[in-house]
Amino acid sequence: MIVKMKKNATKEHYNELTEALKNKHFEIKDVSSETVIIFGIIGDTSTLDINDLQAYEGVEDVIRVQTPFKQASRMFKEEDTIITLSNGATVGGHEALMMAGPCSVESETQLTTIAASLAKDGVKVLRGGAYKPRTSPYTFQGLELEGLKLLRKVADTHDMAVVSEIPSADLLEIFEQYVDIIQVGARNMQNFQLLKVLGKSSKPILLKRGLSATIEEWLMSAEYIMSHGNSQVILAERGIRTFEKYTRNTLDVSAVLAIKELSHLPVIIDPSHAAGRWNMIERLSMASLAVGADGLIVEVHNDPKNAMSDGAQSLKLDKFSQTLQTLKDLANSLNRPLL
Ligand code: PEP
Ligand code: MN
Repeated sequence: MIVKMKKNATKEHYNELTEALKNKHFEIKDVSSETVIIFGIIGDTSTLDINDLQAYEGVEDVIRVQTPFKQASRMFKEEDTIITLSNGATVGGHEALMMAGPCSVESETQLTTIAASLAKDGVKVLRGGAYKPRTSPYTFQGLELEGLKLLRKVADTHDMAVVSEIPSADLLEIFEQYVDIIQVGARNMQNFQLLKVLGKSSKPILLKRGLSATIEEWLMSAEYIMSHGNSQVILAERGIRTFEKYTRNTLDVSAVLAIKELSHLPVIIDPSHAAGRWNMIERLSMASLAVGADGLIVEVHNDPKNAMSDGAQSLKLDKFSQTLQTLKDLANSLNRPLL
């Protein structure tokens, strides 16, 4: 970190801050000139908050040179993190991974129909919401525990792994019993209490990007999970809120490139919640693979018109099969097969 003092800052101001930092075992490297007082703080500055330093009298500016996240950082670990799922599928390795399924688990018939079709397509990870974070309390809230049990049962018949969203920390034990990847929804990305609890889990965590979260905030949320003991974090870009209303959200494709520079963690794209429109899924998925995403998570439904949530963005089963083939062809040409 670099601190620049105000022109009228006194020696006392300088000493007060530098002594406080030295007491915290930081080294001070003074690079002041005749016209400007400026110094570097050497040490693990991830524990320092810029705002706290700015509260000192005489401080004009504080600039972070290192990232505030450590364990999630590419500087901390250079090689890509590869996460192996319970059925042997991997995220972050040579192959990109497709995850697919309905927005919500609605019934055994619905889930069985969808999973059978996905399994035929070779999909290794079944998604499905059991506890739904709906904007309105009057809309379908999910089958809850019954939904998790259905996901487990149906996935097991096809050797698929299950990904489902956890709404709160008190449900961790139940999720660990039924789910292979625990999803943190966009609305919970900064539920730090939840993130800390998930840090104690041995399951991989799929961390969706918050609706208005910066990439740094997103990685800081990953850091919460990792610093509490769980290094198996998969990031998922699912579109962010912008002024644009035509699409449900704005897919930030460049986030994949940013994450790849800043972090060693795998990052996948959810084009369904980004676009909110089924007819954009194929092209956005192609863009995702082209930009180097480690996988995709896509909503599909056997009867989108009558889906209990997110029907407008769900691909029909046959459309999904065709799309997957197109994506596999593209992935092969990019020398990064899609599983
Ligand atoms: C979902 O995956 O069904 C979901 C609600 O996603 P998000 O948290 O990204 O809105
Ligand atoms: Mn959904």
